[in-house]
Amino acid sequence: MTTIATTRKPAGTLIIGAGQAGLQLATSLRELGDTHPITVIGGELHPPYQRPPLSKAFLSGTALQEELALRGSDFYRDNDIAMICGEWVEAIELHDAESSAGHARTASGRRVEFDRLAFTVGGTPRRMNAPGADLAGIHYLRTLDDAVALKDDLNRAARVVVVGGGFVGLEIAAAATSNGKNVVVLEAQDRLMSRAVAPEMSAFYSEAHARRGTHIRLGAAVSGFRGSDRVEGVELADGEVIDADVVVVGIGLLPHTELAKSIGLAGDHGVIVDESGNTRIRGIVAAGDCAISAHRTHGQIRLESVPNAIAQAKTAAAALLGREPGTPSVPWFWSDQADLKLQMAGLTMGYDQVVLRGDVEGEHFSALYYRDGHLIAVEAVNASRDYMAARRILEAGGNIPPESAADTEIPLKTYLVR
Ligand SMILES: Cc1cc2nc3c(=O)[nH]c(=O)nc-3n(C[C@H](O)[C@H](O)[C@H](O)COP(=O)(O)OP(=O)(O)OC[C@H]3O[C@@H](n4cnc5c(N)ncnc54)[C@H](O)[C@@H]3O)c2cc1C
Repeated sequence: MTTIATTRKPAGTLIIGAGQAGLQLATSLRELGDTHPITVIGGELHPPYQRPPLSKAFLSGTALQEELALRGSDFYRDNDIAMICGEWVEAIELHDAESSAGHARTASGRRVEFDRLAFTVGGTPRRMNAPGADLAGIHYLRTLDDAVALKDDLNRAARVVVVGGGFVGLEIAAAATSNGKNVVVLEAQDRLMSRAVAPEMSAFYSEAHARRGTHIRLGAAVSGFRGSDRVEGVELADGEVIDADVVVVGIGLLPHTELAKSIGLAGDHGVIVDESGNTRIRGIVAAGDCAISAHRTHGQIRLESVPNAIAQAKTAAAALLGREPGTPSVPWFWSDQADLKLQMAGLTMGYDQVVLRGDVEGEHFSALYYRDGHLIAVEAVNASRDYMAARRILEAGGNIPPESAADTEIPLKTYLVR
């Protein structure tokens, strides 16, 4: 009797979500020498592209759609990465509850087998739940298609209302103001970017935007939208109505958790991973905006930034291949609002002291955040040199003594040497 031994062809890795993190994960797997199949499935029609310019250069007209792609089509071919765009994964099933292998099914009925799985599914903008919220002319900005529609509508608008004074809302407001629109920002809290920056920085940005012609309204809670077919105004809780041809809502992101939840790997706030990107099932990872991960000092946190998506995807790729993860990096982020370049590193949560350094009125300064006298974060406005030095000090676990941090005669890099 002859026995013919057959070896099953590996199904490889399925990456759900073709954004910044998904692309990086696929790229890192190949860079680390993974020769098994890699399939990336993305719900958008476009292959991975840069989101940050959507609220900045693309909206203000200095970057074109074709300049946003992260990689050309030859990259996917050359690296043997199957990139499937425009298909939404609706369901996943594991062979058994603890196995990383299984199959996924897309809305079009495609079935994709996998041995290992990665969630890089990002999130969706939090929606307004108020009367009139589904009127035409009310926009959210997450995707390239959203940005194309918004830009088109803005071209015909004179009066723009932005609901939400966070990073994305303020970037949109700055772009629209610089394009000659009359722009009002409505922020329900008593200061801008309140979840991310210190009151000193919020106050600076309120004044800086006002100087450039954007109307900032703080403590302005939206109760509804006026209009018959299209939006014509935004109603505030006190009954005031602000006229609007276009409204953009930027009130946060809800991570996509449905698929991971269906196999017990997510809570309401994200896909739960450890600092290597592993879920509790070996061979299933998550990275980017959808992942809520264990942080050395801050417990469970979910970050929304390009550098975080890249760093987590690299770590998760190493985890899938059983390699050592790299050293965890200090989180960093940037936001360009008009000609103000804000660069941030570290996490400000739990700070008890802020030292301002530089020329606040001249729009060239930084804010250094401390806890118990130790530097934990930096935010710099048009002050890249201070930002880079402080970030390197944070990465090295060093300190800038708070009592001398405001002295601009002493370059911050001095403290790195020490
Ligand atoms: C307007 C804007 C401006 C920004 N500016 C900055 C900035 O200045 N600096 C910065 O650091 N960050 C910025 N960000 C944030 C940054 O873009 C994100 O943190 C980053 O893109 C996250 O990447 P990701 O891969 O985790 O998620 P995403 O880029 O959102 O990618 C996830 C992808 O998964 C797809 N997907 C989800 N579920 C499924 C499914 N079931 N089936 C198939 N596909 C699915 C989604 O369609 C999406 O394409 C900005 C974001 C926006 C929207």
